[in-house]
Amino acid sequence: LPEYAFIGRSNVGKSSLINMLTGHKGLAMTSQKPGKTQLINHFLINESWHLVDLPGYGYARRSLEQREQFRKLIDQYVTKREALVNLFVLVDIRHEPQRIDLEFINEMGEKGIPFSIVFTKADKIGKQVQRDAVEAYQSRLLEDWEELPPLFVTSASTGLGRDELLDYIEQLNRMIAELEA
Ligand code: GDP
Repeated sequence: LPEYAFIGRSNVGKSSLINMLTGHKGLAMTSQKPGKTQLINHFLINESWHLVDLPGYGYARRSLEQREQFRKLIDQYVTKREALVNLFVLVDIRHEPQRIDLEFINEMGEKGIPFSIVFTKADKIGKQVQRDAVEAYQSRLLEDWEELPPLFVTSASTGLGRDELLDYIEQLNRMIAELEA
């Protein structure tokens, strides 16, 4: 089944976003191995795709050794996993583009891994500030890249961006189904 992975720094709002995407009406979610804490968790959605919860990168409070272990794990997953369709990189909309995120994004771009950027916690700022933040991020990305990835503005508190994200995933699923037919 196609896989869609979510990643970001700790505290970016990844768990909240995953809950927003899966915890509501209409989406049947089951964990593949319930009750087991794993570094990479798969959730089956609508019996048609897997939502993959990847460990965060750049936890300041973890040991160097553990961070390196996480990096290896993430790197293996994104480069080797054939079922991976798209990686959603989460960034807090209130923060200026951070080096650690930009480095990760650039690495994904260099490796040719399809990714999108998901801005989280949009409810914490006003509409105009949201637009400015997205524009600033786009400008920063265009310093390194000629093309922009898809961008989503979300809030786990209000549900903003939920339909857009799920529609995007369904659209990719349909494309894959057509290609395989
Ligand atoms: P994770 O470490 O990336 O999984 O982040 P969490 O989902 O645990 O969220 C970190 C903190 O941010 C928690 O206190 C959440 O309540 C808060 N948070 C997450 N998403 C949102 C959001 O969309 N809006 C607001 N206002 N707070 C959020």
